[in-house]
Amino acid sequence: MTFRAIPKAELHTHLEGCAPPSFIKGLAAEKKIDISKIFAPDGGYAFRDFDHFLQVYEAACTTLQNPEDFRRLTMAVLEETASHGVVYMETFVSPDFCGGGDLSAWRDYLAAMEDAALEAEEKLGITLKGIVTGIRHFGPDASKPAARCAAETKGSFITGYGMAGGEMVGRPGDYAYSFDMAREAGLRLTCHAGEWGGPDMVADTIRDLGVERIGHGISAADDPALMAEIAEKEIVLEVCPGSNVVLKAVGGWASHPIAKLRDAGVKVTVSTDDPPFFHTTMTAEYDMLHKTFGWDVDDFTALNNTALAAAFCDDKTRARVAKRLEPAP
Ligand SMILES: [Zn+2]
Repeated sequence: MTFRAIPKAELHTHLEGCAPPSFIKGLAAEKKIDISKIFAPDGGYAFRDFDHFLQVYEAACTTLQNPEDFRRLTMAVLEETASHGVVYMETFVSPDFCGGGDLSAWRDYLAAMEDAALEAEEKLGITLKGIVTGIRHFGPDASKPAARCAAETKGSFITGYGMAGGEMVGRPGDYAYSFDMAREAGLRLTCHAGEWGGPDMVADTIRDLGVERIGHGISAADDPALMAEIAEKEIVLEVCPGSNVVLKAVGGWASHPIAKLRDAGVKVTVSTDDPPFFHTTMTAEYDMLHKTFGWDVDDFTALNNTALAAAFCDDKTRARVAKRLEPAP
């Protein structure tokens, strides 16, 4: 059974992390950059653990050097994602990988990505919105230029601000300045937490950064009071089960807490995070949720409705996407 044809929405992806390995290999060959060691014999990305994954990710990013590379990347990613029925996607984009945090360079990269997104929307019927992302393990000060880039370019494409990278570097409150700047600019907020950190990291992220969504958040399942708080505040979790399994944030699919979180009344959504790195797709995620927890079309419809309601887009876009998410008669 495959759920490929079901129209889907996903909120948690990293643009460079969605890059098909063949695309990155092609760019590396064009630019004569030797990154052969980041690939496995089967052609996929090769890494040992989360820290090594971050290194391989950053090595792949060295091939992405100018706005035109990001235009091509955006188009390649949207073609692949749309082929799995995704009609709405949000993706994390980092000024650190696009001109090193320089605002005028960032504007050029952004224009190229938005250009590709509009072209893909017309051709493929998929809408893409960007969430500017600070990289946590670069430190609190390095996240400030990223937040400034976000605040200065809020618009029809950039609609949110968030933080990714090594979760155990610093405490959430250390990054409050950047989140405050983004909030004051009118951006919607999300942050990775509770993928590696415990429930305390999730609780501090909610309290100190004022986010309305949490990236992963799965460790909240270890704390019933925190689950109740998240449910009551209607904070939405961007859960990426396949990513958690491959990176060993959980023991396996059977012990993944997504069903426990949902049963506790927490609003959950499903995304792929960095799909080629984790050998996954939205179709594969749905197949595994079906096999593991018996989730079916009605459950997936509910996930997608939750995702659409929590999407960082304007109401006009939401209404347009809602029509695409309706199952075919
Ligand atoms: Zn992520």
